[in-house]
Amino acid sequence: MNHFPVFLTLDGRRVLVAGGGDAAVAKLRLLLKTTAHITVVAETFAPEIEDWATQGRLKLLRRAQEPGDALCCVIAYGAHEDAALDARALRLATADGALVNIVDNLADSQFITPAIVDRDPVVVAIGTEGTAPVLARRIKADLEARLPKDLGMLARVAKGFRGLAMKLPMGNPRRRFWGDYYESVGPRAAATGEDAARTALGNLLETHLAAEARPGHVDLVGAGPGDPELLTLKARRALDAADVVIHDRLVAPEILELARREAILVDAGKEGFGPSMTQDDINALMVRHAQDGHHVVRLKGGDPAVFGRLDEEIAALDAAEIAWTIVPGITAASAAVASIGQSLTQRGRNAAIRLLTGHDMKGFADHDWAALAAPGQVAAIYMGKRAARWMQGRLMMHGASRATPVTVVENASRPDQRVHAATLATLPDIVADATGPAVLLYGLAPRAAMAAIRNEEIAL
Ligand code: SAH
Repeated sequence: MNHFPVFLTLDGRRVLVAGGGDAAVAKLRLLLKTTAHITVVAETFAPEIEDWATQGRLKLLRRAQEPGDALCCVIAYGAHEDAALDARALRLATADGALVNIVDNLADSQFITPAIVDRDPVVVAIGTEGTAPVLARRIKADLEARLPKDLGMLARVAKGFRGLAMKLPMGNPRRRFWGDYYESVGPRAAATGEDAARTALGNLLETHLAAEARPGHVDLVGAGPGDPELLTLKARRALDAADVVIHDRLVAPEILELARREAILVDAGKEGFGPSMTQDDINALMVRHAQDGHHVVRLKGGDPAVFGRLDEEIAALDAAEIAWTIVPGITAASAAVASIGQSLTQRGRNAAIRLLTGHDMKGFADHDWAALAAPGQVAAIYMGKRAARWMQGRLMMHGASRATPVTVVENASRPDQRVHAATLATLPDIVADATGPAVLLYGLAPRAAMAAIRNEEIAL
């Protein structure tokens, strides 16, 4: 970079333009946008320059340039369009201590004037160090088209709010406020005029300050097994109020539709476009949105406290000092057992119920198979489809009856719910039929089929 861009204060400073023709007129048009004291020196002047002088906007020296004409000038232009006269202008003005620009003479100029897009007080200066004036004009045309005509007015209005906007925390909150103003609220109000823009900006600031006053918060919400009617009232209320909903793949679209219309929906379990988000990504996303002051709903299938990686998310929120609450949901086992008319516990049969996962981080999950193989045990097995054959082997090895009922409930509570009654012996084949999420209810048969299964057991 040979030319260092600066914006020079010209208010109350002197500027000399040597020359009275077209080149001088072009420079003067720009200079007259400033509040500099302008003097033009030449033997004859173009009519525009005479007019400006008559209007008192600049002073004329109707003679050849003399030493001292550029004294106390910050900058001076040689605009004679005549090599000899401009060389003289350069010499004299330099001796007077001014920085000199010779029009269309890059080599002799001590500074150059950039192409300008003027939305005063927003001014974009484009320089190519004299190498590509055509390119500079293109960029200028491009920006002229892109920057709203009212931008200058919006910036002027904004200036009056700079101090007030300091009440917003630095960083994202302040950036969001100004972003909203320049991108949507400002341009809309500007159509009605400067006062409307000022009022709109005032209102916008109030809204942002109010939003900042309530700190970010995360609700870890159970969405239930799929049927929207099985949402808790608290879950519905949280969805109504959410700014951001980060949901799992298992959450049904009908439930997502209940989220506030303006809420941002983030699918954290996206498949098809590559791998789903990592747990770290999800944690970071929750923290970021909460730190921005948003009400975040982390929506999980079933109950967040059942195979939901709840503790990892809470740890991340605690580490970032973000407040959270848990809204429990109906877990898949409850919906599954309801679909077969059974109870998870029963006096005289099982006083305990196990919630098992078929696989964990290390692969197929190990459990106390011997205890589970004893008669009368009941377990709800989540994520158990792929591990079905392996579990069958373990249980039988520990003496479980081949006839032990196992009911596979697929898509519990959803319109596409399917119940597959099996026994430990037939489980792997039957499970292969289930394509949706399924819970394996070990030790339970659908109520209507219960008697028949008991008889079969006796016959064995
Ligand atoms: N937190 C969830 C469980 C998440 S683990 C809950 O409480 O239900 C995901 C597993 O849950 C699935 O592999 C499946 O075994 C089970 N699951 C979730 N929704 C289900 C549904 N509607 N029907 C059957 N099983 C379901």
